[in-house]
Amino acid sequence: MIPFLDLKAQQARIEPELRRRLEAVLAHCQFILGPEVAELETRLAAYCGATHCVSVSSGTDAIQIAMMAEGIGRGDAVFLPAFTYTATAEVPLVLGATPVFVDVDPATFQIDPAHLAARIAEIRAAGVLKPRALIGVDLFGQPADWPALRAIAQSEGLFTLDDCAQSFGASLSGRKLGREADATAISFFPSKPLGGYGDGGALLTDSDERAALYRSLRTHGEGTTRYEVMRTGMNGRLDTLQAAVLLAKLDVFDAELAERARVAAIYDRRLGNVLTTPKRVPDSASAWAVYAVLLPDGAIRDRLQASLREQGVPSAIYYPRALHHQPAYAASHDGAALPVSEDLATRIMALPIHPDLSDADAERVCDAVATALG
Ligand SMILES: *Cc1c(COP(=O)(O)O)cnc(C)c1O
Repeated sequence: MIPFLDLKAQQARIEPELRRRLEAVLAHCQFILGPEVAELETRLAAYCGATHCVSVSSGTDAIQIAMMAEGIGRGDAVFLPAFTYTATAEVPLVLGATPVFVDVDPATFQIDPAHLAARIAEIRAAGVLKPRALIGVDLFGQPADWPALRAIAQSEGLFTLDDCAQSFGASLSGRKLGREADATAISFFPSKPLGGYGDGGALLTDSDERAALYRSLRTHGEGTTRYEVMRTGMNGRLDTLQAAVLLAKLDVFDAELAERARVAAIYDRRLGNVLTTPKRVPDSASAWAVYAVLLPDGAIRDRLQASLREQGVPSAIYYPRALHHQPAYAASHDGAALPVSEDLATRIMALPIHPDLSDADAERVCDAVATALG
């Protein structure tokens, strides 16, 4: 079986630096907010040109801390795409706010700015919820249409959070993601482009005030001293051991992005005539967290997945359900039609993509797809 993700191969490549980094932590024993955490924050901020990076315990906690810092809660509408990972919608609900689902673009799978504008107008007309925030998601490694999203959010007075959990390392108009919104949330879940060996995340922002709030919120709302509690916060810090792992991985991150793009180029070339390959967001470079293809319908997708499995090729479905159809979220949906998200869930499928997937294995994946659909 070709691995869908190959963390062992990656570990073998970076092992000396990884061990050096981990041994340094074992030697100094500063497991909470040790020097590696500050070093990682400095390097991540520099990587994308953001003024501040505040590392946290997960991508989900990054979203939550960003929303808490804005005081978002009961009666507030938070706009977000219906076609994304569950965490994006979970956080507003945990804080008592209401997620307002927005449809996505059928070709790029990114949140649709025209539908966002229509949804904001609907919520204003209904007069029940106060439009407060937009969580734009950069899905599958590609950037959302941030120039359009920013313009709408600005004219509507919305706080913007870039849920960049899947797409750190991608760029838009030659700029690395990390400065497209008021704040950017990233995730170090092991399968993300920059993944640790456990949970982790970070917030990026150019705002001094927000960065200070994020640092306070991740440590129980602390003030200038540890035993002064200024606000209700959480235990949301990144472990020093995770920072050490991430520093070793950051050294090879750009080279890995190039390897992911190499695999994507093989799939594009070989599969363009067999199924619908992912359309690029204009003027962007993807981090290729996911290579998602579209099949004509769900029955063909089922048959393709079964045939690929038999041929030793794994596949996955991100996402089998639009979020407004999830049992946990259905009750908070206002009933608006979200036809593109619903359609994508029935016929989208992801192929293996990672830096250690050889040309030969990528060709094998393509041969298996051609055999299955031929
Ligand atoms: C992975 C992911 C998250 C959550 O990140 P965790 O680190 O797993 O908490 C949030 N949003 C999106 C779009 C994701 O893919």
